[in-house]
Amino acid sequence: MVVGDVTTGTDVLVIGAGPAGYVAAIRAGQLDLDVTLVEKEAYGGTCLNHGCIPSKALITASDLAHEAGSAEEMGIHADPAVDLAKMVDWKDGVVDQLTGGVEKLCKANGVNLLEGTATFEDDQTVRVSHSGEGQGSESLSFEHAIVATGSRPIEIPNFDFGDDPVLNSRQALALDSVPDSLVVVGAGYIGMELASVFAKLGTDVTVIEMLDSILPGYDDDLKRPVKQRATDLGIEFEFGYTASEWHDNGDTIRVVADPAEQAAADGGQAEAVEAESLELDAEKVLVAVGREPVSDTLALESAGVETDDRGFIDTDSRARTNVEQIFAVGDVAGEPMLAHKGSMEGQVAAEVIAGEPAAIDYQAMPAVVFTDPEIATVGMTESEAEDAGFETTVGKFPFRASGRALTTGESDGFVKIVADDAEGYVLGASIVGPEASELIAELGLAIELGATLEDVAATVHTHPTLSESVMEAAENALGHAIHTLNR
Ligand SMILES: Cc1cc2nc3c(=O)[nH]c(=O)nc-3n(C[C@H](O)[C@H](O)[C@H](O)COP(=O)(O)OP(=O)(O)OC[C@H]3O[C@@H](n4cnc5c(N)ncnc54)[C@H](O)[C@@H]3O)c2cc1C
Repeated sequence: MVVGDVTTGTDVLVIGAGPAGYVAAIRAGQLDLDVTLVEKEAYGGTCLNHGCIPSKALITASDLAHEAGSAEEMGIHADPAVDLAKMVDWKDGVVDQLTGGVEKLCKANGVNLLEGTATFEDDQTVRVSHSGEGQGSESLSFEHAIVATGSRPIEIPNFDFGDDPVLNSRQALALDSVPDSLVVVGAGYIGMELASVFAKLGTDVTVIEMLDSILPGYDDDLKRPVKQRATDLGIEFEFGYTASEWHDNGDTIRVVADPAEQAAADGGQAEAVEAESLELDAEKVLVAVGREPVSDTLALESAGVETDDRGFIDTDSRARTNVEQIFAVGDVAGEPMLAHKGSMEGQVAAEVIAGEPAAIDYQAMPAVVFTDPEIATVGMTESEAEDAGFETTVGKFPFRASGRALTTGESDGFVKIVADDAEGYVLGASIVGPEASELIAELGLAIELGATLEDVAATVHTHPTLSESVMEAAENALGHAIHTLNR
């Protein structure tokens, strides 16, 4: 407490206005709680300003440029010129529209908005510091707090995001000219999405990955079409290396990568890769090796809130931390670090505070990689279902047998459904192919509703659509798919 300070109070204090925090605040407002949302930078958080939305905008624009320039088979001859500064302006316009919408929605739901950086003074008070000279700070007491401070990109030794040629994803999404060449460090989803964007805009891209494949955690059959398409786009891969340093080379930089101690894909024994160090010349280097929670800047210890050894705040199935009145949601509360997971947790936290019987359920949590083609998953994989004790039955439908996929020119990939053999309940699904991000929603709903393969197969799907592939995969599991051979 600062001498002469006046402390104001709120029922629910939400710290951070990303998709976890602003959704929690709006839901709390809908439930007639007195709610204050504190944000230090921009409404919408990483997702709207520097993550999901800007990356998807540039993915769409780079797809358009690339497709227009490679549609000769369809009789289209074009050589699109790319003005990245204009493209980024357009992307920024989309972002502004959405962030402005968030602010309006918060106000319309009675949320008090406060700009500043919150740190805990104790388990019932925060200090909010306002940026700018002479702006000072204020003390705010709360009945309940929801921490939604998100995550930030991880830096690696010798690659400082403050140095011009070294980029994190946020900086890569704000470039105003297309680099001639780019080294991407990390083949996770952010690295792979941005590698594809720049390759489609004409950049020579090389991806360095310490493991032996792209997209750790995804099944090989899902990754195969993505790796193939990336290779077709000219993206080069160096697996089993870690970037160790970079030097200024005059017009370009030289990125040095050393052989990594590479864990076997099955998580088994580590084996040393016998190789020399690599030297790669490029205009820029994008470091995309993962994200870490923003929990170290909150003085959580003053409130007694505990984190795990990676800095994620420990929570229970109702989003509650070890301190009764303090909740944590979104990236800061752990994996999977996805916007829709944070929003769901934010709604649960608000409802629990309002006394409703809400709880978090990750069973039908989808995840999407917006590569080319897209990968989408929901529920259990076949091996997870078997590990959980289910006898499984699996149905698969390849997009090359889909009339609609062929008419879009995108027919790589498949829909795969995993169901319980005894009753036919849908347990999980994975899709790699066109519009996988949209198609997965039907299967998430199926899991949520406890639908069976029969339910999905008996639902009439519009022809010709990609969604027929979902129905056909269910029919295939039942042994009566029409447009593919049944196993
Ligand atoms: C390039 C990229 C692409 C992505 N694409 C996708 C995607 O396609 N789909 C998907 O689901 N997810 C995607 N993500 C992940 C997604 O952005 C995050 O999961 C999501 O933003 C997490 O939401 P959050 O509300 O927990 O945190 P954030 O969105 O990080 O918001 C946290 C907010 O808290 C504020 N804050 C932090 N500390 C304080 C403080 N002390 N006081 C006040 N305010 C504070 C921050 O300024 C920020 O606005 C992507 C991320 C990146 C980087």
